[in-house]
Parts: sequence; C-alpha cells; structure tokens
Amino acid sequence: MAAPDLSALRPRLPSPLQPLADERFTRRGVTLLLKRDDLIHEALPGNKWRKLALNLRAARGRPVLTFGGAYSNHLRAVAAAGRLLGFPTIGVVRGDELAGRPLNPSLAQCAADGMRLVFIDRSTYRHKHEPPTLARILTEARADDSYVVPEGGSNSLAVQGCTDLGRELHDLADVAAIACGTGGSLAGLAAGLAEGQRALGVPVLKGGFLDADIRRLQTEAFGAPTANWRLDDRFHAGGYARTTPALDAFAEDFEQRHGLPVERLYVAKLLHALTTLTEEGAFPPGTRLAAVITGRPGPETAA
Ligand SMILES: *Cc1c(COP(=O)(O)O)cnc(C)c1O
Repeated sequence: MAAPDLSALRPRLPSPLQPLADERFTRRGVTLLLKRDDLIHEALPGNKWRKLALNLRAARGRPVLTFGGAYSNHLRAVAAAGRLLGFPTIGVVRGDELAGRPLNPSLAQCAADGMRLVFIDRSTYRHKHEPPTLARILTEARADDSYVVPEGGSNSLAVQGCTDLGRELHDLADVAAIACGTGGSLAGLAAGLAEGQRALGVPVLKGGFLDADIRRLQTEAFGAPTANWRLDDRFHAGGYARTTPALDAFAEDFEQRHGLPVERLYVAKLLHALTTLTEEGAFPPGTRLAAVITGRPGPETAA
C-alpha cells in the first residue's frame, strides 16, 4: 500500500502570519503576530499536522496506533487523517472505566472517523511505552502490524516535522511562542529558527519536567539540544484542562476583542502568558512576537 501523504490534502502551508492590534502589546512597543497553524487544514488543524506528516509517510499505509486521554486532540487528528487518507487507525485510550460508557464528544468524533478505540487501565497506560507492556497492548488490541505513534505524537519524526514552523518564521519574528503539552512542537520550532531568533514555551501541564523532555527530544531528532528556547512555567492554571476564573475571563475577553475563537486547553494559556509577560516588560520595545495558534476549539467546547 502506498504511503499516505498529507500533502494530498492541500494544506495551507506556510500557515498565515497575521498581525493583531491589541493595546496591551502596542503600548509596550511589542508587535503581536498570530502564526495561524489552526488554519492549516479544516479537519486536521495545527501542530498535529506538522507532527504527523513524516510519521504517516513512515507508516507506509499500515494501521496507525496511538495513545491519548479521553479528550486528546492528538487522537482526533490521527483519526481524521485515517479517514481522509484511507488508512486504519487504533486509539488506545487511558481509563478502562470508560469502556461501555457513552463516548464523550471528542471520542465520538474519533469513532465517527473510523478509529477503533481500545480502553486500557491507568496503570498499564502509565507503562505503555515500555517494550514488554507495549507488546502486550499491541497483542491484546490485535494490532501487532501497526505503526506506533507515542502519546501526544512526539517522536523524532514529529519534532523534525515541526522545524518547518521555525523556518516559516525566518526574518519575520524575534520571539516565537507556543503552548507545550509534550514539548515536541517547541523542540522542532526552536531547531528551525534562525540565528538570533528565540523560542518561548508555555507548558499547560503542571510538573516542571518538560525541560529535560525537550532536551531529550532535540537530542534524538538532531543529535544535540539547541540553546535558543526557554519555558515559563507559571501559566498552567493548575494543570492540564484546568482553568481559573481569571483565565476564563481572559479568553472570553480576547475572543470578544478580536473575534478569534480561542482554544482553551493550550491557546488560552499561551495568550494569557504573553499578555502577562508583555505587561511585565519581558519583551523590549520593537520586539516582533509570534504566537503560534496551534489549534481551535474542539468538539468538547463546541456549543
Ligand atoms: C497538541 C497540542 C499542543 C501541544 O503540542 P506538543 O507538541 O505536545 O507540545 C498545543 N496546542 C494544541 C492546540 C494542541 O492540540
């Protein structure tokens, strides 16, 4: 079977870069630019496209098996790619208590796209990337012939795919900022930037373990970590999918000011971080600050 090729879906690449006039930035002399990765493709938006492209080529049409929680954007992206390009997908979902219950809107979307869902208990899930556990999961899921993409989609090919994001910003921005889950997108973005450009990551999970993960991802993908990025760990609002009244109010206000639907798990935390950092004077006047809009609101937040 031929390798599925995402470029057949006519992605909008390079993604648009749009200036946004917001007084909280302009009064500090900072030019805010939105790097609209959410517009890359209708069904497969954002950094998930960049992370999947080289992996799907490597899968060569075999079923693609991957992992995620009950609201994973990554699972939805893999399922959509399978439907659009005609290859089988298997989603291994954290939490066997979900089996037999009605699917939430995110998993229902995966299933509607033809993804076969397999629910596993949390302790097995925690060890899923250890070879003996992975082998058992593949056998029990009757998926031994699958191409395995790790949770969140971050492996070397994904990180290499995200270097294009950095390259598309050459000469156009001084700082490129992105929300981080696994950090794979930041790892690639930073590696793709030119001399003098810097990347800033805003982790949406609580933990502080991401520095080491990103260095490891860069080492695996490029042989060594790059020194042109940093993380600011203050904006996770309590952890993944957690929020605060202040963050909710910020996101609603941002949507009203600019008419831009703000994805809440990642993009809201990024924009909130950049607004706060700008108010703190973190960026010198004249800075061109590119905020990567990695996704748009998904089915879990749709009305
Ligand atoms: C997956 C995702 C991210 C995080 O990407 P990582 O490479 O895991 O850091 C950021 N934003 C959105 C909208 C996502 O879906």
